[in-house]
Amino acid sequence: MADDAIDAAGNSPCQSCGACCSYSENWPRFTIEDDTQLDLIPAQFVNARQSGMRCEGDRCSALSGKIGEATRCVVYAVRPDVCRTCQPGDAECAMARRRHGLPLIASAQPD
Ligand code: SF4
Ligand code: SF4
Repeated sequence: MADDAIDAAGNSPCQSCGACCSYSENWPRFTIEDDTQLDLIPAQFVNARQSGMRCEGDRCSALSGKIGEATRCVVYAVRPDVCRTCQPGDAECAMARRRHGLPLIASAQPD
């Protein structure tokens, strides 16, 4: 779920999606975060191995709402780094949206 994909009206395609937050029980994993950053994520959303977010099936436990309609990350301000890099229209976005039967988003990034 991206943070810089918000348009002038304050809307992001991510707000009616959430597909990349429900893609794999092994995602998202922590990568470059330091202990101070990880301590900000409420413990109930972190997995037992402290290696990533806790998932319920393939779905991140911090994802609220209905995929493809209206979703929200309840730890948005402190979410892991990998969540910040997924951008609407990129390859990961396309993979996730395809899995959920959602139409693909045109990439805003140059080829
Ligand atoms: S799959 Fe794409 S549009 Fe959907 S939440 Fe992730 S980055 Fe946003
Ligand atoms: S932490 Fe937030 S942005 Fe990251 S996968 Fe979970 S719900 Fe999505």
